Amino acid sequence: MTQDELFKNLIAHTKEYGFIFPSSEIYDGLSAVYDYGQMGSELKNNIKKYWWEAMVRLHENIVGIDSAIFMHPKIWEASGHVGAFNDPLIDNKDSKKRYRADVLLEDYIAKLEEKIEKEVEKGRRKFGESFDEEQFRATNPNVQRNLAKLNSVKEKMVAALKSNDFTALRQLILDCDIVCPVSGTKNWTEIRQFNLMFSTQLGNTSDETGIIYLRPETAQGIFVNFLNVQKTGRMKLPFGIAQIGKAFRNEIVARQFIFRMREFEQMEMQFFVKPGTELEWFAKWKQIRLEWHKALGMGDEKYRYHDHDKLAHYANAATDIEFDFPFGFKELEGIHSRTNFDLGRHQEFSGKKLQYFDPELNESYVPYVIETSIGLDRTVLAVLSGAYKEEQLENGESRVVLKFHPALAPVKVAVLPLIKKDGLPELAQKVMDNLKYDFNCQYDEKDSIGKRYRRQDAIGTPLCVTVDHQSLEDNAVTLRDRDTMQQERVSIDALPEIVDKKVNIKYLLKKLS
Ligand code: ATP
Repeated sequence: MTQDELFKNLIAHTKEYGFIFPSSEIYDGLSAVYDYGQMGSELKNNIKKYWWEAMVRLHENIVGIDSAIFMHPKIWEASGHVGAFNDPLIDNKDSKKRYRADVLLEDYIAKLEEKIEKEVEKGRRKFGESFDEEQFRATNPNVQRNLAKLNSVKEKMVAALKSNDFTALRQLILDCDIVCPVSGTKNWTEIRQFNLMFSTQLGNTSDETGIIYLRPETAQGIFVNFLNVQKTGRMKLPFGIAQIGKAFRNEIVARQFIFRMREFEQMEMQFFVKPGTELEWFAKWKQIRLEWHKALGMGDEKYRYHDHDKLAHYANAATDIEFDFPFGFKELEGIHSRTNFDLGRHQEFSGKKLQYFDPELNESYVPYVIETSIGLDRTVLAVLSGAYKEEQLENGESRVVLKFHPALAPVKVAVLPLIKKDGLPELAQKVMDNLKYDFNCQYDEKDSIGKRYRRQDAIGTPLCVTVDHQSLEDNAVTLRDRDTMQQERVSIDALPEIVDKKVNIKYLLKKLS
């Protein structure tokens, strides 16, 4: 099966089992907006919890806030979003499809990278044991040619984007012979800038003065509360402020399911440090964040860093943590060294001092900031695509199973009476009552036990408890493990502890250093 087919199956699966629905579906949907169903919202809440506890609870010097979506419009002038939060868009005149010019070039670069890797793989197969990868990369003419092309395109793209030279950017698209994937032609329009912020009106004014924006990131809500939190929390540098919340961007090209949405959620943390120490902290946060991802056990090879060639106007270092989605490696989280840009600008625009008095140095200054910014929905997609498995079983049957980390699974335990009579439902209900205050449980008595196991596999429930006739006599049940499908007999009294050991998020958190 191709990755494309697998991705389509995953999308269909998430709908069928109540994870993700297209928004406003009965009205034919709303482009790039999605709703989370009964399973999806549990999964999302568990991811939020994992992030919040890892950030706020495990770091004594990080606190969490929840700032409003609407903010004073001047904030977005200060942050640079009114002037510079733009994407360069280009249309194909034949297909009438719209693209981001930089994304067309990035896809082209990714294809060159793929060609290089394929050539290296070919070499590895040809030379076997004696293969010297470094030497091969340095001398193979095909690798060298593609690498030279790649570097040249990258360089020109970065230069054009940095100087906002859209004529050069368009020429580069033409020079690379990039065609529209739909029409197959190079009939491109000029490139235009497009601001990604959604605006609306505050109160009953309909003139320019009433315009406010839906926040395109949660970070600014943290910056403008920097002094409030620092003072009321008596925080000493270095310290961080974390927040989870909705953000809105009028994305030009909204594709790839919940990867790029117009309404989405971010989990952001701004870490305030002494000027001059920021790059050290940047390196630390890069490592801490990668460790957080890897602890989920989806495979270390699924993650990589991607250092930015083109730094945003506010940053002096930036990297992405990329995840190997079904459509390739793409950004999951951004880690940025944002200097004192944001606090400095808010100080300038508001006329209020946003400084920290450093008792050791006996002086005040505007702190520097390291930001970690992760998309909650992208993490949901990463977790779903990492967990989704179509398995062929030994008995000839097949199953679809979501092998989530148990701490993230929406339902932790399914309680299943073998049949619907003889007092089994009553005992199963007692088992439920004993577990439900600590764990999200599901009771299911419909259909054969095999079908019920499949349903639980399909939503990723780590444990199934089956109550049978013998349970009435020995007070024991059959416990089935989602991944191994092994079954064991355990006492009902021992269940809470067994389940806790398997699913409690604290064991996941303890893996983090
Ligand atoms: P991209 O280059 O993919 O547009 P970005 O660099 O603009 O992303 P940031 O501004 O750094 O993204 O936002 C931080 C995080 O928020 C991203 O790493 C991503 O996980 C998430 N994010 C950004 N835009 C979207 C979106 N439209 N839909 C879902 N998640 C998003």
